[in-house]
Amino acid sequence: MRLADFTTIRLGGPARGFLSASTDDELIEAVRAADASGEPVLILGGGSNLVVADEGFDGTVVQVATRGISRGDRPGMITVAAGEDWDAVVARTVAEGLAGLECLSGIPGLAGATPIQNVGAYGQEVSQTITAVRVYDRQTREVRDIAAAQCGFGYRTSVFKRDGRRRFVVLSVTFRLAAQALSAPVRYAELATALGVSAGDQVKAAEARSAVIELRQRKGMVIDPADPDTRSVGSFFVNPVLDGSALAAVEAAARARCGPDTKVPAFAAGDGLVTGPAAWLIEQAGFGRGYSLGDGARISSKHTLALVNPGSASTAGLMALARRIRDGVREAFGVSLTPEPVLLGVTL
Ligand SMILES: Cc1cc2nc3c(=O)[nH]c(=O)nc-3n(C[C@H](O)[C@H](O)[C@H](O)COP(=O)(O)OP(=O)(O)OC[C@H]3O[C@@H](n4cnc5c(N)ncnc54)[C@H](O)[C@@H]3O)c2cc1C
Repeated sequence: MRLADFTTIRLGGPARGFLSASTDDELIEAVRAADASGEPVLILGGGSNLVVADEGFDGTVVQVATRGISRGDRPGMITVAAGEDWDAVVARTVAEGLAGLECLSGIPGLAGATPIQNVGAYGQEVSQTITAVRVYDRQTREVRDIAAAQCGFGYRTSVFKRDGRRRFVVLSVTFRLAAQALSAPVRYAELATALGVSAGDQVKAAEARSAVIELRQRKGMVIDPADPDTRSVGSFFVNPVLDGSALAAVEAAARARCGPDTKVPAFAAGDGLVTGPAAWLIEQAGFGRGYSLGDGARISSKHTLALVNPGSASTAGLMALARRIRDGVREAFGVSLTPEPVLLGVTL
């Protein structure tokens, strides 16, 4: 059994053990038993944010297959089992007249993974609507609820990703959504344009969902087995967060490299910081869509941030490509790009 069969990028060698857990008790017991025997464990969701070594994983994979969505006491409160398919959850909330997740349509993977990197897209992040995350804590060996304020959510990160990736097993996630047919205010300019509204306007949540899916499909960001550009982990690199002096240095390098009128597209990220555009930096450093080192892995032909396995790539080849891009961007702009997916058995 190769992990390539369980990852959206279709890469990864064999695991020593594999089991699927369809209840919280099974999930906790599997992890507890592995921990007791010193066996390394990989908690596997939809495999859409995972890059696994060609050599595979020398431990037990525990696939999360728990199901269930329950409503809370207050309108708009829902608790979702970790193993629920994320996009099906979004579709259901929109259909039921609940707003707050509609811009996160079309993202692959399972609900339990969404708090890990504070999944976000088109102006929404799950941290805006999560109220609590129920976890099995492998350190204390107990189940507990972590309130959103204690989750340490940031841009594509959380306490689970930063220091707790191995400590916490997410069992379920509770969201507080708005009981309304209208979307949350549309914040993302590209989405507002696609919807023909101004930033800050609201539309029907179902319309926002359709527009997001259409935009994502054009970028190869909705899984389509017939489209090799979607055989990826989504964005391979995180947009770098820059302070004023780092942005000034990037702008100076950009002007020297690309011409005196060059503008670096950057978005305010609060606290005097900006989010720099990884895709733009990669393109300006000379790595365009379709770029490849010639051994299978390549940049998507639809989105510069996605590295894809059209069919013949290896993880080693993918990582060599990622390193070439990282080094090229560092040389050109002095910015060190960091990977967004979880790397298992490989490093950048
Ligand atoms: C085409 C495509 C588009 C994407 N677009 C976006 C996007 O727009 N925005 C975005 O933020 N991400 C995006 N992603 C990345 C990815 O879909 C998300 O990060 C998703 O939440 C990962 O879910 P998963 O179930 O597949 O996690 P996996 O890949 O299975 O796991 C990822 C990590 O989380 C851990 N994990 C998973 N489930 C649990 C659990 N229950 N408890 C503890 N740890 C767990 C795993 O051990 C691993 O470390 C995209 C990926 C693809 C392939």
